Amino acid sequence: MPQRYRIAALPGDGIGKEVVPEGLRCLRAAADAYGFVLDVEEFGFASAEYWLRHGEMMPKDWREVLGGFDAIFFGAVGWPEAVPDHVSLWGSLLQLRRGFDQYVNLRPVRLLRGVRGPLRDHGPGDIDFYVVRENTEGEYSSIGGRIFEGTERETVLQETVMTRTGVDRVLRYAFELAGSRPERHLTWATKSNGISISMPYWDERAAEMALRYPHVTADKDHIDILAAKFVLQPERYDVVVASNLFGDILSDLGPACTGTIGVAPSANINPERVHPSLFEPVHGSAPDIAGRGIANPVGQIWSGAMMLEHLGETAAAAGVLAAVESVLERRPDVLTPDLGGTATTTALGAAIAGHITSGQ
Ligand code: ATP
Ligand code: MG
Repeated sequence: MPQRYRIAALPGDGIGKEVVPEGLRCLRAAADAYGFVLDVEEFGFASAEYWLRHGEMMPKDWREVLGGFDAIFFGAVGWPEAVPDHVSLWGSLLQLRRGFDQYVNLRPVRLLRGVRGPLRDHGPGDIDFYVVRENTEGEYSSIGGRIFEGTERETVLQETVMTRTGVDRVLRYAFELAGSRPERHLTWATKSNGISISMPYWDERAAEMALRYPHVTADKDHIDILAAKFVLQPERYDVVVASNLFGDILSDLGPACTGTIGVAPSANINPERVHPSLFEPVHGSAPDIAGRGIANPVGQIWSGAMMLEHLGETAAAAGVLAAVESVLERRPDVLTPDLGGTATTTALGAAIAGHITSGQ
């Protein structure tokens, strides 16, 4: 019996509705080529349309609805004309990330063959690492407030929260990931020379975790230098792990070093697999180009490859990525405008799916 996986597809808003079908097309091609079955169920919630009809972004029982799936394949959410961004984001994606305890945000930073990156001296092969961002605590706490409001002494405080459990579990994930890669190198982002309570704790936990992974070489970089080195010496990095805020910044800076935002993928992972993990492109709903059929579907398709990897379909994941690179490199006729071409979302998606089918 072939392995079966249940996938919940949430296209969301804007170009999400255009790139998710291409992602699914490639996933189905991979399932056929590599001999497994995907049972895909599509949902219309986590979108502005749903909000306009129901006054909420997701049904109240979303946990029950989605909890039984093996993974969530997410497009993009946000349609500021109809719903303020903080409402749509907080009412959907952030609920899912937190409700399903997806405490790892994982972004590959890799310059694909066929894509011209902005860094002059670096080509494909030089830039190939992962950013692991802590996704649930750290600097993004809601603890704090304003005191002496309206006076000269007006003061604002916001706490950073680091728990041993929260810090250790993301570090463990990052060390495991580093240990599984050929270079076995891990860098943790810190700022313990300036932030004198939370960051030294982060360093302490990282140093302790490193003792458990003697086969991984580990070092730390202060976030300011780290950001500079992302641009100047990206070849230094293999796995970079960072707190919520630093990880947020690095995980946008990283993909920016590898060309168009249209190709960048991401995963929100619950490593224990108690809850489904969520796979989505880095880009948003892109209202400025939505409805024109010109969005680049590669970020969505690559996110699909990450989903296959997570499900254990490693060969299929590699096959999808190989097809992406091969098409980007050899088929200028199907490139979307952000890649310098004139083709449509569908043309690029179909070419990649065709390559998955024929190319393995
Ligand atoms: P967020 O939703 O995270 O707030 P945003 O709305 O600021 O992000 P995006 O929706 O990602 O930003 O769009 C940023 C820019 O990148 C826009 O000009 C958009 O057209 C472009 N862009 C985003 N995704 C793609 C894509 N897949 N293909 C081509 N261009 C894209
Ligand atoms: Mg947006």
